[in-house]
Amino acid sequence: MFNNSKPDSQDEIAIEFAAKPFSANFPVRVKDELAESRRLRLTEVFYSLQGESKTLGEPTIFIRLTGCPLRCVYCDTEYAFYGGKWLGFDDVFAILDTYNTKNICVTGGEPLAQPNCVNLLTELCEKNFDVSLETSGAMDISKVDTRVSRVLDIKTPGSAEVNKNLWTNIEHLTAHDQVKFVICSKSDFDWAKEVVEKYKLTNKCLVLFSPSHQQVKETELATWILEEQLNVRFQMQLHKVLWNDEPGR
Ligand code: SF4
Repeated sequence: MFNNSKPDSQDEIAIEFAAKPFSANFPVRVKDELAESRRLRLTEVFYSLQGESKTLGEPTIFIRLTGCPLRCVYCDTEYAFYGGKWLGFDDVFAILDTYNTKNICVTGGEPLAQPNCVNLLTELCEKNFDVSLETSGAMDISKVDTRVSRVLDIKTPGSAEVNKNLWTNIEHLTAHDQVKFVICSKSDFDWAKEVVEKYKLTNKCLVLFSPSHQQVKETELATWILEEQLNVRFQMQLHKVLWNDEPGR
């Protein structure tokens, strides 16, 4: 649903984004002409249903930042590793204003790989958006505004990036945050279970277990969780069910 009460110039931007969410359709901006602390390289901005986490199924605007220092074996957003376009924060806010939702999800790539992401998150909170951040667990979350629900994706051995986990992040979790494990095998499940127990994660915040697409059957993971009586939330990625992982949805 679009808010049609905006000035024409904003409507033009929004309609362009809604129809073609990819970087080629972003406004053309010259990096050096944007304020240094209020610019980011973005791959896409799009409106969809939240595909995972505690706001699953809620209409949400996704801001996908470009770039990621990790290379998880199951990555489904490799198109965000390179390219993208520079945008100023005010360009981003103009787009957000055209949608009828307060839910914003900042994602990537690895959004925290761009230091200005922290500034954007705080400005979004100041504007009273309900903000979540999807982050790999490899970057320091301590500077992220605690009004943001930080979804920390702890990398399992099956991701091939387990050595990138920054374990000190766990000290900074609040009840507003979420921890996610993408499970690639039974041994990944056993590893994740040990991590949950070692750090008492279920006492800190919501813990999510997702099956890695095409590596673990959904029913297998559901069965393992029940057999072990883990107080974690099983989740399937709704966007894959609805749209088969089509970019921009
Ligand atoms: S951290 Fe996320 S974006 Fe980066 S490689 Fe892993 S799955 Fe892909």
